[in-house]
Amino acid sequence: MTISLPFDNSYARLDGPFFTRTKPTPVVAPRLVRLNLALAEELGLDADALASPEGLAALAGAAIPDGAEPIAAAYAGHQFGHFSPQLGDGRAILLGEVIDRAGRRRDIQLKGSGPTPFSRGGDGRAALGPVLREYLVSEAMAALGVPTTRALAAVTTGEHVMREDIHPGAVLTRVAASHIRVGTFQFFAARRDLASLRKLADYAIARHDPAAAGAPNPYLAFFEGVVRRQADLVAQWLLLGFIHGVMNTDNMSVSGETIDYGPCAFMDAYDPATVFSSIDRQGRYAYGAQAGIAQWNLARLVEALLPLFGEDENKAVADAQGALDAYVDRFNASYLAGLRRKLGLTTEGPDDLALASALLSLMTADRVDFTVLFRRLCDLAADPEASGPVRDMFMDLAGVDAWLARWRDRLTSEPAVAPAERASAMRRANPAFIPRNHLVERMIEAAVERQDFAPFEELLRILARPYDDQPEFAAYAEAPPPSPQNYVTYCGT
Ligand code: AMP
Ligand code: MG
Ligand code: MG
Repeated sequence: MTISLPFDNSYARLDGPFFTRTKPTPVVAPRLVRLNLALAEELGLDADALASPEGLAALAGAAIPDGAEPIAAAYAGHQFGHFSPQLGDGRAILLGEVIDRAGRRRDIQLKGSGPTPFSRGGDGRAALGPVLREYLVSEAMAALGVPTTRALAAVTTGEHVMREDIHPGAVLTRVAASHIRVGTFQFFAARRDLASLRKLADYAIARHDPAAAGAPNPYLAFFEGVVRRQADLVAQWLLLGFIHGVMNTDNMSVSGETIDYGPCAFMDAYDPATVFSSIDRQGRYAYGAQAGIAQWNLARLVEALLPLFGEDENKAVADAQGALDAYVDRFNASYLAGLRRKLGLTTEGPDDLALASALLSLMTADRVDFTVLFRRLCDLAADPEASGPVRDMFMDLAGVDAWLARWRDRLTSEPAVAPAERASAMRRANPAFIPRNHLVERMIEAAVERQDFAPFEELLRILARPYDDQPEFAAYAEAPPPSPQNYVTYCGT
């Protein structure tokens, strides 16, 4: 018995060198940890069927749903700056695509479903801890309003995976606008396979940028769209304190969704040098490096696309350079617009960036919690006389007092609005709840060591409403207690 899902598999029709047909490897004893009912509904899938034993078998890779055409996609990528011409889905298998209720095409992919021809010695499996982290953080990002892949389901396999230690195994069902990465283009460019490169670009245009097809140079227009989406995405990350952790070119989606939650984490104390990933010893993917790294990755994409930009090489290079340079302005504008929202500003003042930067400098010096600070600033907007809750977070009192006076002064040049109204607008830009590392670790520990998934469920519920005060969960909004070691996340396990 197997379930039937309403698949319409366009990527599998590309055929040729784009992928290898590969089946998931069945597991010993699948068990459903969680099914995302709201997402199933959004995708137009039958939640009851997915929750049935046959559905569980499909989500664990033990049975292939009717209509699926399982494939492992080929891609290349720069990993920590070094080019690997052959990566590909080493532990992920695309089951197929569905058209959701809003008419959008969405990939349904199993992650951790067994080896593929791209596994390069890896076991093709995933451990429960990282599966729960990806589920929780990607769903939190969605609720925060950040473009992201989604989590449809998590199942445990009843098997163990070997890393440094032994861990319970799990499979995540990931949903994405597509899985076309910068590295997918690099794969064909490195092989000088121009026909496939063009086919991929045409496919990506049809799927992500149909308007680009009508531009004088559709491939340039496509690249310009990727640039805009990536600039806006990374600006959103920075405005929320998110650190991706492994911004390799194979982990950057041309759809503009955040993809591949490995050693990702949210920053507590504000410090642009913050790194959490155990494998990022040079700080290449530190919080404050992300805007520059996105542009570096986009440079790799435009290099790959360049052969499609026309016969006139000088013009092609000039077009590529112009489109790449546009990234900086787009990012700066997007980031500044977000900073203004965080500060409660609806108009554009000439010194707004300096105002925001001055606050961030004070925060860096005093290691002030990023999320708590901005949420408390909302309270100050509600009460023009108040300063205590923000002031108390600093050691440099003269500095924070001067800054608050400057901010209050700037607010006087804003259109008159009731303080409560400004505060509530600010609260929509400054979340109370983020997936803090100490909470995520505690949740993973309960699940892995005690098979207790209640903390996972509870955190998911809280993080589904990140901008709402949830007084009963106030403790989850607090900065972590001081800890002797720096927090570290481990990659890809
Ligand atoms: P990542 O850094 O997570 O994006 O992974 C980089 C590459 O390693 C991708 O091609 C993955 O498919 C592959 N990979 C990661 N973990 C495994 C694993 N356990 N087994 C096989 N391949 C893996
Ligand atoms: Mg990856
Ligand atoms: Mg990964």
